[in-house]
Amino acid sequence: MQSEQPIRIVIAGGGTAGWMAAAAFARFLGPRYRITLVESEEIGTVGVGEATIPQIRLFNASLGIDENQFIAATQASFKLAIEFVGWTKSGRYMHAFGDVGRDNGLLAFHHIWLRGLTEGLSRPLAGYSLNNAAALANRMQRGPARTARMLPEMPYAFHFDAGLYAKFLRELAESGGVERIEGRIASIERDGESGDVTALRLDGAREVAGDLFIDCTGFRALLIGEALGAGYEDWSALLPCDRAMAVPSARARDFTPYTRATAHGAGWQWRIPLQHRTGNGLVYSSAHLSDDEAAARLLAGLDEPALGDPRRLRFTAGKRQGFWKHNVIALGLASGFLEPLESTSIHMIQSGIERILKLLPGAGVSQVQRDEYDRQTHLEYDRVRDFLVLHYWANDRDEPFWRERREVPLPEGLEHKVALWRAAGQLVRGEADLFSEVAWLQVLAGQGIAAQGHHPLADAVPREQVAEYLELVEALNAREVAQMPDHAAYVAQHCAGVKT
Ligand code: FAD
Repeated sequence: MQSEQPIRIVIAGGGTAGWMAAAAFARFLGPRYRITLVESEEIGTVGVGEATIPQIRLFNASLGIDENQFIAATQASFKLAIEFVGWTKSGRYMHAFGDVGRDNGLLAFHHIWLRGLTEGLSRPLAGYSLNNAAALANRMQRGPARTARMLPEMPYAFHFDAGLYAKFLRELAESGGVERIEGRIASIERDGESGDVTALRLDGAREVAGDLFIDCTGFRALLIGEALGAGYEDWSALLPCDRAMAVPSARARDFTPYTRATAHGAGWQWRIPLQHRTGNGLVYSSAHLSDDEAAARLLAGLDEPALGDPRRLRFTAGKRQGFWKHNVIALGLASGFLEPLESTSIHMIQSGIERILKLLPGAGVSQVQRDEYDRQTHLEYDRVRDFLVLHYWANDRDEPFWRERREVPLPEGLEHKVALWRAAGQLVRGEADLFSEVAWLQVLAGQGIAAQGHHPLADAVPREQVAEYLELVEALNAREVAQMPDHAAYVAQHCAGVKT
């Protein structure tokens, strides 16, 4: 017989991670679970994290969120791609969501493109991506293509105000029965025998007891790190940027449906357009750039006036050596940090929540559940890290920071991916690879790594057909984009609360 006692889940921390977890648990766990969230307004949240990837739409939809309402409530804009500027001497390229070109049966489009390159028939890869074409034209539409059935729907994500998103989720979670407790966690109580956490002790001698604890306390990692001593695997040798200087600026006239990541002498700068402002931040290595220089460089790179003083954030790239210890699971910044070059952190919170729900413990936890959670999370972290490292390694810039990046020995999995691409233009997606073949393709090609071969089946296609096919894909994309509305007008029309 099952115990009548509810299982108490305590979420420590109310940033994006805490409230995403609270909203999801409220939605998916039945009355057998009682959810409490503890947060401290005085401590506050990290206050950044504005660009996402398309999977966020699945998360929102699973919570029953109306997309237009969400866009209005979080001052969001649409995101079709990331533009990389200055990472190589050739200037700029896009990593757009969605397909590039159309596959021909078993033959992936990029093999036809590579074959075309050898005969001077292919144009830059970006021209064959509908998302890319729409992004550069500042256009947006949702739903099926209007002009040709063979065109795909455009996948999209959002740029949003992270503080407003947490507020939005808080309302949802509280209306779903989550209890919020305001207070500063002063210490963690543990069972003398098992070592499990039994309660959070708050200022003022209050205590919040629980059976399962989710550590969403951000970089502090109060439970998983401080109390349980889970170590941190430091990846600074691969990803040496350890600071960010962030500042909002006035809403950009150029209201782009894409994030921009512009390389500079010791890192890169993000630009994220929202409805009410633009988010900007300079990511840099403190060994190569002082904080004062970083602030000056950031301010000089804004396209509208700053709305405040730059704020400095410190971090160390890496991950926890264990994500689930005893009865504590780390989510968000408490679990590790990978810089926002490909906007992956919020997604990794989402996939952590999915994993928790799949491996959900009942009244007790078995070690094998913890091990499986850790195995999947380690893999996910490692794969995302490799994708980020590729951007840095494959540069041809002249500054010391960038020269050092080219000298770094690559992690094994990344080395294999690069070798396969170089030798035969081939791409493989392994278990837990967040990014698809087409994402790797765009970054490999965009960063100037040439493939020396292509699939032999591409040679079976007559030359004229290759030329016609490439032209057709580009022309269809251009025709579709021409009838799409302007991004700002689209947001104004569909998502109330917008100023254009
Ligand atoms: P936090 O926001 O720090 O929240 C921690 C919570 O714990 C707060 O509520 C705090 O009050 C509470 N807390 C801490 N200590 C105590 C205590 N003693 N008592 C009570 N409560 C406590 N991600 C993306 O996906 N896209 C991006 O574009 C992006 N950009 C980023 C840029 C930078 C510079 C950085 C640093 C991160 C970025 N991220 C991005 C990551 C993203 O910001 C985080 O993943 C996300 O905000 C989740 O943070 P969190 O909830 O884990 O931590």
